[in-house]
Amino acid sequence: MAEKRDYYDVLGVAKTATADELKKAYRKLARKYHPDLNKDNPEAAEKFKECNEAYSVLSDEQKRAAYDQYGHAAFQNGGGGAGGGNPFGGGFGGFQGGFGGFGGGGEGMDDIFNMFFGGQGGRSRAQKNGPRAGADLRLDMELTFEEAAFGVEKNVRLNREETCERCNGSGAEPGTSAETCPDCHGTGEVRVTQSTMFGQMVNVQPCRKCHGTGKIITHPCKDCGGTGHMKKRSTITVKIPAGVDNGSRLRVAGKGEAGTNGGPTGDLYVYLYVKPHKFFGRDGTTVTCEVPISIVQATLGAEIKVPTLYGEVIMKVPEGTQPGKVLRLKGKGIASLRDGTKGDQLVRLKVVVPTKLDEKQKDALRKFEIIGGDNINPEEKGFFDKVKNMFKK
Ligand SMILES: [Zn+2]
Ligand SMILES: [Zn+2]
Repeated sequence: MAEKRDYYDVLGVAKTATADELKKAYRKLARKYHPDLNKDNPEAAEKFKECNEAYSVLSDEQKRAAYDQYGHAAFQNGGGGAGGGNPFGGGFGGFQGGFGGFGGGGEGMDDIFNMFFGGQGGRSRAQKNGPRAGADLRLDMELTFEEAAFGVEKNVRLNREETCERCNGSGAEPGTSAETCPDCHGTGEVRVTQSTMFGQMVNVQPCRKCHGTGKIITHPCKDCGGTGHMKKRSTITVKIPAGVDNGSRLRVAGKGEAGTNGGPTGDLYVYLYVKPHKFFGRDGTTVTCEVPISIVQATLGAEIKVPTLYGEVIMKVPEGTQPGKVLRLKGKGIASLRDGTKGDQLVRLKVVVPTKLDEKQKDALRKFEIIGGDNINPEEKGFFDKVKNMFKK
């Protein structure tokens, strides 16, 4: 993609241009590049889009301020999140705050089209001035194997936009109240009759004086400066249910950022990462593990101790157990998130062939061979018979 042009350059105005100058420059260009007048000119359509975008940002004081400070980066991917690069490094980093108010530019675009074509309806306007939901937050959380299996309550610290307590979200200093905007009489909109190239049109525009809110705050709240909300660091408790797994996502309703104009609070999404365990593995609700046994235990059978999530249990190894044999411990797995039923634990037996025998031990084994102890078992006999037959015919 081509490098994005500077919005001021696009409109051909100075960085210090007033709202009026911006509007004039925009209108001139919009007329010049309007698709209706440039039917066979794709370049004009691009230009038209480009100046619409530039104007949608620069005509909005908040967005313009963000653009002046951050450039195009202000509007990419929801903006700058706080937190470090590694989401799992040392606790809880990596939120994605999102720039709340500065959306993808869609609504600004609607405004422009409404302005241009006389605005058939307040759909976008209603969204702009009405209640707006707060942003959702994302939190990455690391759990131990046991925490995921049994559930846990974690206190996490969030840096988020919250409703200002001093003014209760109104933005007006306590004891004062917001006044109805004299320009738009509280509607947030002004109607302007304009003569355009399409004839006389009544245009509905967001009121410039109150930024479309319909209210003027004469005494802004001292804590939040009139915005009604402020960044705050707070601790919330996240309850992790038993049975969550690596990659599980939890939604904590209403723990995101505060909404504006009475809009609902966003949600907090917790992404879980389960650290590997040094002994246990996991497949859904099944716990897996590998336990070493000696050739003597495998041959003669034994009772061995096996760790489970619920403590150590004694497990019977049958006589003549072959390497790799998997035994099942019923109900020693992880509770299902859905209905709480527990899975099993699968124990894989690893028969360890001794490597450092002393002479006495080796002698014992040689005697064992001499007395016929090393006679192959029926299974092996079958194998050798087959091999013999292979060469006979
Ligand atoms: Zn306040
Ligand atoms: Zn107004």
